[in-house]
Amino acid sequence: MNTKQKLYEGKAKILYKTADPEVLLQYFKDDATAFDGVKKGTIIGKGVANNTISSNLFRLLREQGIDSHFVDKISDNEMLVKNVDIVPVELVVRNISTGSLCRRYGINEGIVFGEPIVELYYKDDELHDPLMNDDHVLAMELASREELAVMKDQALRVNAILREFFDSIGINLVDFKLEFGRFHGQILLADEISPDTCRFWEKGSMRKLDKDRFRQDLGDVEKTYTEMMQRIAEKIS
Ligand code: UDP
Repeated sequence: MNTKQKLYEGKAKILYKTADPEVLLQYFKDDATAFDGVKKGTIIGKGVANNTISSNLFRLLREQGIDSHFVDKISDNEMLVKNVDIVPVELVVRNISTGSLCRRYGINEGIVFGEPIVELYYKDDELHDPLMNDDHVLAMELASREELAVMKDQALRVNAILREFFDSIGINLVDFKLEFGRFHGQILLADEISPDTCRFWEKGSMRKLDKDRFRQDLGDVEKTYTEMMQRIAEKIS
């Protein structure tokens, strides 16, 4: 019987309470959704892969000076995290054009930007996470000017670290989404960093190694998550 007390269940993860009110257990599910939850499925092994990948990337970032909510990986599907208060602003960093950016602005896929683009989205499922700018964040009091500056600065530093890391294992980091939380007044990187929240294109072959395989029915979905887990682990551990 599962006696853990559930605090919150999202599309891909469940948060449980622990004996320590400052610490939560983050469980990674195999459930997958896309297009605002319209497409649903199960990707066997995704939970294990995303937990392992996120744990390794949070460790790598910590070694390079970016702290996060990550405390420890405690099982195949579970990590302990600090109990942060999530800021309802998602930050997307883009190095190469694809996805909603191409649809919104009518530009071609695959343009490598001279400088990364940082976008802000309002984290609200009912409103379909609309794009917003700094002024909206401040006017809606979602974060202070200082907090927003910290989040944008950290997002760019995460990008620089991860871009170099993925480059070293033959992968282009195309774009990714980050979430931050507040913990004792401090902004902390939170959520996950995985093929669900990043786009990875293999250098040379241009093979997609992320959730686009599920979104676009490209096949080999399970295999791809496991491959990414292994390629990252081989380099980090
Ligand atoms: N992303 C995410 N969660 C979201 C929206 C986007 O993790 O709710 C990630 C997505 O996996 C990609 C990046 O953010 O790595 C940019 O996504 P985009 O805006 O292009 O979204 P899409 O084309 O999927 O609508």
